[in-house]
Parts: sequence; structure tokens; C-alpha cells
Amino acid sequence: MSHFDNLHSLTSSITAVTSPLRQYLHELHSKYHPLTDGVVANYIPELALADPALFGIAVVTTDGQIFEVGDSTTLFTSQAISKAFVYGLALEDHGRDYITSKVGLEATGEAFNAILLDEKNNRPYNPMVNGGAIAITNLIKGQHPTERLKRILDMFKRYTGHSHDISMPVFLSEKATGHRNRAMAFLMLNVGIVSDNLEETLDLYFQQCSILVTARDLAMMGATLANGGVNPITQERAIDAQYVQDVISVMLTCGMYNYSGEWACRVGIPAKSGVGGGITAVVPGQLGIGTFSPLLDDKGNSIRGIKVYQDLSKDFGLHLFNATRCDRDLNAWTKGSPVDARS
Ligand code: GLN
Repeated sequence: MSHFDNLHSLTSSITAVTSPLRQYLHELHSKYHPLTDGVVANYIPELALADPALFGIAVVTTDGQIFEVGDSTTLFTSQAISKAFVYGLALEDHGRDYITSKVGLEATGEAFNAILLDEKNNRPYNPMVNGGAIAITNLIKGQHPTERLKRILDMFKRYTGHSHDISMPVFLSEKATGHRNRAMAFLMLNVGIVSDNLEETLDLYFQQCSILVTARDLAMMGATLANGGVNPITQERAIDAQYVQDVISVMLTCGMYNYSGEWACRVGIPAKSGVGGGITAVVPGQLGIGTFSPLLDDKGNSIRGIKVYQDLSKDFGLHLFNATRCDRDLNAWTKGSPVDARS
């Protein structure tokens, strides 16, 4: 039994332990659950079936405490959140200089699926837009498609502490309808940015986007990055320490699509969003946060998720560039249970 399984069996038998942070998250959940603005993603037909009422929040500290409320263990597809983590794997495979020569690091201010290339440098603008993410997936090493997919799934497992499945319906749905991504891939093939095994690369990209995760997983993935790349529960290293900063930086500059600049000002927590309704975030040295609510704004970000992060950032002074100490000391708020603080 792994350390993580141990935690699960232990926590499932623990009765409610109240901590101030858990209570705070409950209040946040109650405050924003009634918000029904936005729409579920529908350009991938299978995603249109998502239940708009679902709403989960999870926080994992770098010392391994888990706080969660609502639908924090409901599975949904990672979608673009996978891009940040696959970027880390590509950095491990090829190193920073090579990867940056293939995919830039500048925000576009355009939608994530814009058909757009940095023609001066002959590369996609960044690894978080679809073109950049497809080019990054193209670079993931492996002898054959199964090995490449397995390397991505193993990487997810290192971050979360457990194995992951792929939603076959979502994968097939996007494979059947993802013509815009296909067009972007062909454009990149035309200028030599991706290799000619396009369908294989697109399949792998659609599969990484279809990996099933929970809000708790997203918080654990964020906490692993916050903890220098080591999962705070299993103590397994998920990513080479030298690339943790690269992944977190690109989350801050490009992780929230064409809302990234405003997010950096208003929230100031490096984060990555996906059209499945998830957002994962990293407070370096302190926390990972995961939210799930499939109602999206017109840029593709979870509306309830944004609200949660705005409140967390303000109430705990989590903005990366907050130079003044906040009144509320986070350490005091996380006290309550050394192991778990779920309901
Ligand atoms: N699979 C989605 C796509 O390629 C991911 C986009 C997203 O979550 N923003 O369109």
C-alpha cells in the first residue's frame, strides 16, 4: 500500500475535524455555489454534458495537509491544465534552450485556440496556447505512441500519487471535432515546427487533455510544484527541480488564456485553467489549490473558480507581489489536523 493509499484509508475513517481554513472554504463554497453565470464548454460535444452545478475546492499544503469542500473528488478532464505539466516533461526531455527555440515564452493576448504563429521566430508564442501545446506534445519522447502516452500518465501519477484514466468519450469527441487544432498542426507542419506524424501527435494531445482528474488532484499537483517538484504526501519527485520555476512562470504569464494579465494583477497566483472547468494554482513554498466548476466565461475560465481565487488571494494575502503582510496569518488558519481536515 502506498503512502497515498494509507492517507486515503486513514482519512476515510476520520470524523469531521474543524479547522479555520476548512470552515473558510465552506463559506467560500456556499458564497459562490449559487452563482450560475457562464456556460459549460460545448465546442467539444462531450464536454457539453457536464453538470453545471458541480463545484469543488481543494487546498493542499506543502507539508501535506488536505482541505477540501464540495465536489472535490469528482472526476473531470484536465484539458489545457495538462499543457503546463507536459511542458515540464518536455523540458526534462530536451532542456530549456532547445524547447525555447521551438516554442516561445510570450503571451499572445489572443484566445487559446487562435490560429497564430510568431512568424519572425518561426514558433508558436508560448506552450499554453493550443499551437504551442501541440508542438510541445510533439516533442515528448517515446519509441511508439503507447510509450509516449504512458510517460505522460506516469508523470501525472508522480504529481498526484495515484494512477489516472483517460475519458474515452471526451478523447473521441475531440478527435472527431478538433479540426481547428488539426488546422493549427498542419500550419506548423508547413513551416517545419512539428514532425509529420501529425495524427499521432494530435491523438496524444487530445489524450493528455482527456486525462481524468479531481480538484483534489489539481491541488496536489499545484502543491507538488509549490514544494519544489516533490509530492508532499508520497515524497516522490515529479519533475526535475531545475524546471519547476519554468513551469510556474509560464503559468503566471500565460496560464489563464487571454485573461492572464488581468489575473496576474487581480489574483497574482500562478495558475492554469482548462475548459473542463478546472483551475490549478501554485503558491510557491506554501500551497497548491485546485478548483472545479464547469461554468465558463467567454475566455474559457471557470467563473466560480476565478471568484474563489480572488477571495483566497485577498483574504490570505497570497498575491505573489504582495509586499505587505496580511492580517490573517495562513499558518494559524491551517491548524486543526496534522493529517486531514475534510468534512
Ligand atoms: N483540448 C482543448 C483544446 O485543445 C484544450 C483547451 C483548453 O482547455 N483551453 O481545445
